[in-house]
Amino acid sequence: MNKVVNLNRKEIWENYDPADIIKNKAITIKNYIPKEVKSILDVGCGNGIITNSLNEEYDVTGADLSDIALSYVKGKKIMCSCDSIPVANESFDMVFSSEMLEHLPDEVLSKAIEEFKRITKQYIFITVPNHEHLATSYVKCRKCGYVFHPFGHMHSFKLEDLNNFFKSDFNIIKSGVHGLKKRYYNPLLLSIKNNIADRWFDVQSNVICPNCNNNHFPKEKGNLISKACNLTNRLIGTKREYWLFALFKRK
Ligand SMILES: [Zn+2]
Repeated sequence: MNKVVNLNRKEIWENYDPADIIKNKAITIKNYIPKEVKSILDVGCGNGIITNSLNEEYDVTGADLSDIALSYVKGKKIMCSCDSIPVANESFDMVFSSEMLEHLPDEVLSKAIEEFKRITKQYIFITVPNHEHLATSYVKCRKCGYVFHPFGHMHSFKLEDLNNFFKSDFNIIKSGVHGLKKRYYNPLLLSIKNNIADRWFDVQSNVICPNCNNNHFPKEKGNLISKACNLTNRLIGTKREYWLFALFKRK
């Protein structure tokens, strides 16, 4: 379950936010940004839904690995990996990153954190899925049997995890959970649903199996056991807001 999901595909980015969820998230994000911030580096900006919105009020530079995603970013942009960003030390008032850290393999993650610390003058603002139960979203490729997270998430973070990344040099000055509440699966029920009922997460379109490149993911068929699991989970599965926000300030 460690093969990298390919995000450098036009069909992912051209219709990334059909329900305007990210666009609305940008409004909440702006409420977190301290008044003295003028310049922002948006690392892992994707197709720039947030970057382009911030661009109306701030001097923003978007950075991303995907040239296809970057083609949608209107302002300044840099194509680079988040673990090696070609900008000077302390060159932005704030380094911002929305829903990127959860995608990074361990060694890239730790280097990216060091890059954020190096580049910011004062603030680091992180948003990630809030304590995501990754297995709830696991899909199974019916062609090769590979099980994976369809959005390529490799990590789940709580506030203390984010704090551990930065606490040697930064304090959390604001944090919160935002967005719609998502219901997560009880681990035992999920294991029964996946392994006994062989019913996995119904993925949206635009997914390619990172093991065999199959792109046909028909709607999963329910059965008596999976339906019983779903019903029971509706009673006992925990719900939480989808996003975790944390704003750090240099000590
Ligand atoms: Zn496959």
